[in-house]
Amino acid sequence: MRKYLQQPWHHLAEEEVLTRLESQADHGLDAEEVAHRRERFGANTLTVQKGKGPLALFAQQFNQPLVYILLVATLVTLLLQEWIDAGVIFAVVLVNAIIGFVQESKAIRAIESLSRSMTNSATVLRAGQRRQVPAVDLVPGDIVLLQSGDKVPADLRLLTVKELQVDESALTGESVPVQKAKAPMPEPTVLADRHNMAYSSTLVTYGIGTGVVVGTGDSTAIGRFNALIAAADILATPLTQKIARFSKLLLYIILGLAAVTFAVGVQRGESWIDMFMAAVALAVGAIPEGLPAAMTITLAIGVAKMARRNAIIRKLPAVETLGSTTVICSDKTGTLTQNQMTVQEVVAGGRQYTVTGVGYDPEGTFGPGDDQVDPMGQPALRECLLAGLLCNDAVLIAGENGEWRVEGDPTEAALVVAARKAGFDRETVAGRYPRRDIIPFESRYQYMATLHDSDTGPVVYLKGSVESILARCRQVMTIDGSMEDLDAEACQRTAEAIAAKGLRVLAFARLERQSTGTELTHADVAEGLTFLGVQGMIDPPRPEAVEAVRACHEAGVRVKMITGDHAVTAAAIAGQIGLGEGEEQLSAMTGRQLSELSDDALRASVEQTPVFARVAPEQKLRLVEALQATGHVVAMTGDGVNDAPALRQANIGVAMGITGTEVAKEASDMVLTDDNFSSIAAAVEEGRGVYDNLVKFITWTLPTNLGEGLVILTAVFAGSQLPILPVQILWVNMTTAVLLGLMLAFEPKEPGLMERPPREPDEPLLTGPLITRICLVGCL
Ligand code: ADP
Ligand code: MG
Repeated sequence: MRKYLQQPWHHLAEEEVLTRLESQADHGLDAEEVAHRRERFGANTLTVQKGKGPLALFAQQFNQPLVYILLVATLVTLLLQEWIDAGVIFAVVLVNAIIGFVQESKAIRAIESLSRSMTNSATVLRAGQRRQVPAVDLVPGDIVLLQSGDKVPADLRLLTVKELQVDESALTGESVPVQKAKAPMPEPTVLADRHNMAYSSTLVTYGIGTGVVVGTGDSTAIGRFNALIAAADILATPLTQKIARFSKLLLYIILGLAAVTFAVGVQRGESWIDMFMAAVALAVGAIPEGLPAAMTITLAIGVAKMARRNAIIRKLPAVETLGSTTVICSDKTGTLTQNQMTVQEVVAGGRQYTVTGVGYDPEGTFGPGDDQVDPMGQPALRECLLAGLLCNDAVLIAGENGEWRVEGDPTEAALVVAARKAGFDRETVAGRYPRRDIIPFESRYQYMATLHDSDTGPVVYLKGSVESILARCRQVMTIDGSMEDLDAEACQRTAEAIAAKGLRVLAFARLERQSTGTELTHADVAEGLTFLGVQGMIDPPRPEAVEAVRACHEAGVRVKMITGDHAVTAAAIAGQIGLGEGEEQLSAMTGRQLSELSDDALRASVEQTPVFARVAPEQKLRLVEALQATGHVVAMTGDGVNDAPALRQANIGVAMGITGTEVAKEASDMVLTDDNFSSIAAAVEEGRGVYDNLVKFITWTLPTNLGEGLVILTAVFAGSQLPILPVQILWVNMTTAVLLGLMLAFEPKEPGLMERPPREPDEPLLTGPLITRICLVGCL
């Protein structure tokens, strides 16, 4: 088998590929074979190529304007044969470089390991079972299932595709997604045109597909190109650049003053050598040697603290930007709420049922109040629950001590639990209604559909938002299972009554299919369906989110809820969470209203609106832009493929670590490992702390340097003896700036940090009062 792994696969037929890899499309590899191949082919990871070597990083420590002066000073003192001075000045340069080097490598390593700690996972078919495995465990021959939002985990030869589109910019630089196919292609086709292959590290932007792994680790296409970003660039942020510019300015001032000192002294008839030493003393005194090191360390500590509070920084500038955030736009489901859904109400055949039981424990009964009903004896209810179970990909797993766990979407898990409470058993049902095809749920269509075989012929089940389902239905199932014309408005009102309690509402429908085709398309379910009913599920707010929202309000940071859910549900939950700052009744703007507003009108109303519901992912981009146009610094959360543009546009793009797609994570500045809103609030707090400590270090170090410089200057102008020698100044600076000053990077946060309004985004590093203070203290 090994000899095949080097060759191209695109020109072979699917069966031939599978035969050569000794795998089966509908079964995958067995555990034993996987273990065996893992031994032979190794882990599916890229060998990390070193960016800048340690030597280059060390050399870079000398490549700073402030250090140039010290190097020149060393050189001249050497020429003057002032051995001790030359030695000490150079020692300072060296010690500084070593500290900078050690700290910087530490910071780089920490950031790298953080980004590596976010492991990818892949959905595979092994021994006939669908499973989630870490992407590193993939071996050649594995059957991989792809869906929109996934990062392709290895090089794949595609076996089935359904409108599969892949963004291959990681590989080809071309950002327009490529439409995939499965048919063999002529052998000479170049890599970018091999449409029946999916390459490792590219991103699935649309559709679904399966493929067989033909290359892992370094033998993937990306592995062969593998060029890593130079490590040192990781640490450049707007703030470090601002400081770099500031040090250049400082350099000119210091050089100017040193030149004046020298000129004035020599004019007075002092010796050249003495005056040169005075100039050197002035320069070394005025240079804040510790500044670059303090910057890096403070930022690195900030990143580490945020990681401890479940916010992983992917792009370093985010650390500072977080501190000036003025608006956080957050998802509802799973971020502000617990994403622990339980169906509590079902309306089917015009009758309302309540469901008992909490969480995923499938124990509970149906009834209005205490009057228990047998769901199996209620045809409409029965169909509604069955639809929820069949049109579903979530799996309910019994844990050891009676606890229930779910794999998949919690919304779907709730439907499995509800069906089980009614007595439906998944395996039996799956046997009676084998699934033939699926249209997966996508936020933009707001529904999911599955095609099944049954005793009475092919049948399609749909579930989705009330609006999207009602629009497709013509009739409704009545309480005894017969059909009746649909009164869409009445159904809508019923759904809204449930939504008003803060429940998430899903609607269900069925279509008896005439054709026998085994493929399901959006056009097949466009009209003529039978409405089955709705299920309402509770998704309680996260208690810590309530706290965090209050903290944000106190800190002058607004919080807005952006959700795909129903406006009434969203407004009810937002009220419970306290988004309205005291107001109970919140108004929500819907995606439709939003699309009717002009840019100007949106700008005018965006600030006052706390809740945006039924928002399409594309509209998030407009919201970010509108908020930014009104002067806000925006943090925006996202998880889906279509959220990527908004995440990129936001000042801080926040991706969900658990439920987020790889596409969203790639586009983000920060990833939440717990998907929790309170982690964003925590990161904002840490971001403010970092900025605070940087300013503290600068206001501490500059007066010292200014003071020392002024002492020398005054002495020379007064024509008196130098009160302090360059060597002594350097000693003072070393022990204070580098050893004492750095402690400021570790300073705990000030109390009341989260009670101040956010910093103005364009506020200069040193404000007027601070400059006055520095000058005053320096002169003193
Ligand atoms: P959010 O995550 O902000 O709550 P979504 O875009 O996930 O919003 O969902 C929007 C609507 O789509 C929901 O209100 C629900 O009606 C419907 N929906 C959500 N998940 C599914 C699913 N797995 N299958 C079918 N419909 C769904
Ligand atoms: Mg969702």
